[in-house]
Amino acid sequence: MSQADDIQRILNNWSRNGQISLPAAETIQLPKKEGGWNLVNVKSALLARKTMVAHKLLFSDQPWARHKRQLISKHQKNLLKIQKNYKKKDWPSPARDHVKTWFLARRPQKEQANTSNITTYFKKNTYLRKKWPTEPDDIWQKLCCLDLPPQIHVNAWRWLRGALPLKERVYWSSSIDSLLCRWCPSSPQMHHHFLHECILTKKIIKEIENKMGPRIFEDAVLDRNNWYDNKMSFWLSSWLINYTWNSAARINLDASVREESLVLAAPHVFKLDVLAYYNTSMYKNHLKKVKEGLRAFLR
Ligand SMILES: [Zn+2]
Repeated sequence: MSQADDIQRILNNWSRNGQISLPAAETIQLPKKEGGWNLVNVKSALLARKTMVAHKLLFSDQPWARHKRQLISKHQKNLLKIQKNYKKKDWPSPARDHVKTWFLARRPQKEQANTSNITTYFKKNTYLRKKWPTEPDDIWQKLCCLDLPPQIHVNAWRWLRGALPLKERVYWSSSIDSLLCRWCPSSPQMHHHFLHECILTKKIIKEIENKMGPRIFEDAVLDRNNWYDNKMSFWLSSWLINYTWNSAARINLDASVREESLVLAAPHVFKLDVLAYYNTSMYKNHLKKVKEGLRAFLR
């Protein structure tokens, strides 16, 4: 399987793209509803395909499979009992390798036997066992259901994972000499600070609330605990995380960008994003309430 390791390494490097702030590759390989990004885990994918071949071999009506099964019955004719666990001597050598993998996958049958289920099984029980969350967290499922535009989705995910390239995450890595926030010299730039306390975030909120109505981003809206049941709060917080993060990054990277112009543009961008979301997710019933809530901002 050393080729598999090589391919995995290439995939990991490609997905992380040298970004030290991103979570470990194994975390990114978790399924989306477990808090990852469902990046391929090559070994799980290979074993899942092998399991599916074994499944066909054992159950399909195709001539090659029936032929193989004849060989298997011939081999097993004189055996008193076929073991429930994989035993080498129970199976003829041409089928052993595949049958063994099928046993390893807990002998999936009928509707359980599909590549995606089995891949997840191997991720969970073999290759990503250490990273698999012990307590499932609904927040990831809720995030996927929100159907956010890709960039907002990614940045909301990174905030929840504690993986935005804020100083909390990158201070040890390069020329950055302190953890302190550029806008709030007495506070370390942590993820919590970034959304709840930072002066830059507060300026953006203030500008939007001045133009569009008070208390849009009040504390309850930005409280992660409320995002499980309140999609609207989750949407607004995700939008704010994305806009503020993009603004901070541009101000840091480009000396010609003026902070004031990004703050002033916030209500306008907010309105455009609400409009785009309203239009593109129109047909999704489970988002009806959020869209109706957001529509109030378009008046
Ligand atoms: Zn700050």
